[in-house]
Formats: sequence, C-alpha cells, structure tokens
Amino acid sequence: MHKNFIAGSWVEGSSTRLNINPSDNNDIVGEYALADQVQTTQAIDAAHEAQKLWAKATAEHRSDALDRIGTEILARRDELGMLLSREEGKTLAEGIGEVVRAGRVFKFFAGEALRLAGEKLPSIREGVDVEVTREPEGVVGIITPWNFPIAIPAWKIAPALAYGNAVVFKPADLVPGSAWALSEIIARAGQLPHGVFNLVMGPGSKVGQTLVSSRKVRAVSFTGSVQTGRSIGMSCMERGAKVQMEMGGKNPLVILNDADLEQAVSVAINGSFYSTGQRCTGSSRLVVEDGIHDAFVAAMKLRMASLKVDHALKSGTDVGPVVSQDQLDQDLHYIQLGCKEGGRLVAGGELLVRDTPGFYLSPALITETQSSMRINREEIFGPVASVIRVKNYEEALETANDTDFGLSSGICTTSLKHATDFKRRSSAGMVMVNVPTAGVDYHAPFGGRKGSSYGAREQGVYAREFYTSVKTAYTLA
Ligand code: NAD
Repeated sequence: MHKNFIAGSWVEGSSTRLNINPSDNNDIVGEYALADQVQTTQAIDAAHEAQKLWAKATAEHRSDALDRIGTEILARRDELGMLLSREEGKTLAEGIGEVVRAGRVFKFFAGEALRLAGEKLPSIREGVDVEVTREPEGVVGIITPWNFPIAIPAWKIAPALAYGNAVVFKPADLVPGSAWALSEIIARAGQLPHGVFNLVMGPGSKVGQTLVSSRKVRAVSFTGSVQTGRSIGMSCMERGAKVQMEMGGKNPLVILNDADLEQAVSVAINGSFYSTGQRCTGSSRLVVEDGIHDAFVAAMKLRMASLKVDHALKSGTDVGPVVSQDQLDQDLHYIQLGCKEGGRLVAGGELLVRDTPGFYLSPALITETQSSMRINREEIFGPVASVIRVKNYEEALETANDTDFGLSSGICTTSLKHATDFKRRSSAGMVMVNVPTAGVDYHAPFGGRKGSSYGAREQGVYAREFYTSVKTAYTLA
C-alpha cells in the first residue's frame, strides 16, 4: 500500500483507492491511501512550521537537494516511464520522455536556486538606497491533473522548493502512481527537513478544497479543467491568496496552401493524436485553406490508417488507450455530437478490441465543420480532431482566434510573411510555426491567454514570479 507523506512520515489514509491500467483493466497498478481533511490540515500545519527553516537554507543547500532529486529521476527513467505508461496509457516512449522532462526540470531549478538575483535602484532621494529582493511565498498548495502525472508535478514542485517554499502536493485521483514515486524520491533523495514536502492523495472535493481554503496556504498552483480552476480561483481570491491556474485549450493548427503537405500531416498527427490527444496543448481544430484541403484530408486519412492503437507498453504502439471509461464516454459523445451538428466522420472514432480489455479508440477526424459548432468550442480532451475549411489566410487567422481559449496555436506554411503575421496576431500564449501545437521546452515560459490561463507563467525563469514575493527596501545610511 502506498501511503501519504506528512510531516516527514509515511502515513495511512482514511481509505484507499486502486489504480487501474487503462490498457488492461485487469491489471491493478497499486493501492493508494486517500487522505481526509484532518490529515490534509496536518500536512499544511507541518509545512507551515518547516517553511521557516527552509527559507533560511542556503541557496546551495536547496540547489543540491533538487540536483539529487533530478539525478535519481533521470537514472530511473525506464522504470518510472513504464509505471507512467501503465497507469496513464501514454506509449512507453512518451512515458519515458515525460520522466526525462521531469528530471531535467529539477536539474534546471537546481541551477535557478543559485541564480535568484535582486536589484539595486538609484533613489529619487539623496542618500537613500533602494533594493528589490525576492522572498519565498510560504506554503504552496500544488494541485495537478491526470494527463502529465510526473511532468506537471515536477514543474510546480521544483521551483516551489528552489525558491524556499514548503509544499503540500495533491495529485490527480486517477493516476497517483507516478506522483507517489516522485514524492518518494523527493522525500528520500531530497533529504529535506521534515514538513518541507508533503504528499496528500485524495479527492479534490476534500483534500483539494481543504488546501485551497486554508489560511496557511499562501499560494495555490493549479492545472486542470476550467470549471475546477474557476472555483479554486474564487476561493483563493476571497481570502487573498496568490493563485496560478493552467486550464483547458481548443488549440488551432492552421494549414495554408503553401505548406509542405507531408510536414503538415506529421505536425497534425502528432499534435492531434499523440498521447491519445490528451494534452492541453493538443491540436483539436485543424483550420485548412481551401486549395490544400482535399489533399490534406486524404493524406491524413492515409496516415491515420497506419497508426497502431494498442496496449501502451507494446512495442510499435503509436497511440495508447484513453485514460478512463468516463473520458472515453466523453470522446464518443463529442464524436456523435460533431456528426449531429453536420460534421462528417471520415476516419476513426471506433471502439477497438485488443488482447487486453482497455479503453481503445481509433483517432477520429471530422470534416465539414464550422467554428460555431460545439465540437469546435468545447474541450474534448481525446484523440478527436475537426477540420474547418477556410478561403484564405485572413479567414484562417480569424477562425484560429475565434475561441474562448488561448493556450497554444500553430501554423504550417512556407511563407515568412504569413508565419510572421501569425506569430504577431495569434491570440494564444504559445505560437508554433511548422512544429506541433503540443511539445514545449522545459526552460521556456509556458502558459496561455483568455480562458486557458490565469496568473503568472510557469516554467523557466518566469516561474519565480509565482513562487516568490517581491520586497522593496529603502535605506538611509
Ligand atoms: P480536473 O479539473 O478534474 O482536476 C484537476 C485537479 O483538481 C485534480 O487533482 C482534482 O482532484 C482537483 N480538484 C477537483 N475538484 C477540486 C476542488 N473543488 N478543489 C480543489 N481541487 C479540486 O482536471 P483533470 O480532469 O484531472 O485534467 C484534465 C484537464 O486539465 C483538461 O481540461 C486539460 O486541458 C487540463 N490541463 C491543462 C494544462 C495546462 O497547462 N493548461 C495541462 C494539462 C491539463
């Protein structure tokens, strides 16, 4: 049984939950303890006490802790990647890739811990010194979704610790395995003072809500759905806590007449269907210019027919299963809805039977869709892409921006003029030219606009905005 980690000890929960393999529903990945409100409060109290110590730790001490954690994650990439694929359904290559990313994130912030600089400004008053420094926020609550079970926790926990905060971490209920393994490494290899890092697994309504409403939690970093994010945001705002929310996407990929067709198809296949389409940065809307539309759809159908959908750990699998029955039902519901709204399902969208019982769905392509349809406005979060036909570049840009979301966007073109214009006028936080809308670097800022994100950017040096508090000091010597 995998326990929670509170105040430096592994403790049982008030109940447990089984972690089921989406590639093989007979395979139980493990049993995980569920914390309740009382245990979550204990974790918060422990973090509150320990944070004072951790804030005083030297930059080198914090850096060394993160470096040890990163080293162990990278050394165990194959084993942890297999665990991730087994519980979440990403292919093994994708699982290992995500683990490597998590390890690199810890290494990056091991360096950043040593680089946190302040500023000295000339004063407008004679003899006065003005200094700007950054201090830890205090206790940070970290709440994560199921689709990146190790990378998202890593890119929140690493900067939180690097800048002297204490952490209470609540992973997604569906995939506690990678989060637990990461926590075990942090707890042991990090050699942190007791209480600096705490793991509380359990439902959002109890564990998450306790974290969000505790006065001792000074900042909450959340990634997940828009609905949950908005309610967390309101709770934090009410009590004046700092909050950062990364939420949904409805990311467009524009394909212009002058695109390299083969490259555009590769970019679309990757962005729409890899990781089973369960990426907040996935390309769910393919906005295709009239002149290339038919050739693009034909080439997509051909490539989609060759995608191997199977057990995530089987060699040769391109697309693993959907994460759960609920998510599968949601994907099928939207495929049906798209057809009802007037779209044409031209490839995939079928339940597949494989050697093991799992949530297998062939990637779906729906053509003849309009921007106003619900499948083009609401996040599906599965291997489902819709095609919107447009007359020219201006209409493509307008269609791409016609969404309440604004996380990522992309364009496939050989025109410098259109690529440059798209980078300027796309209303997304991340813009890609001839590369998939999903897939970002760990040292560059990550985040969106409009309904996709709220608060400071994550990752890279930008992460310090959220995990530190700025102090301005005036001295007359
Ligand atoms: P979700 O909102 O259901 O859950 C996210 C987390 O919030 C989970 O840990 C959950 O237990 C917790 N939670 C639920 N209710 C809560 C409450 N009342 N108080 C506190 N915590 C609560 O999201 P999900 O289904 O796990 O993940 C899928 C969603 O995540 C998609 O919408 C996807 O777009 C989004 N996502 C966004 C990004 C990004 O960076 N923008 C990245 C990955 C996933």
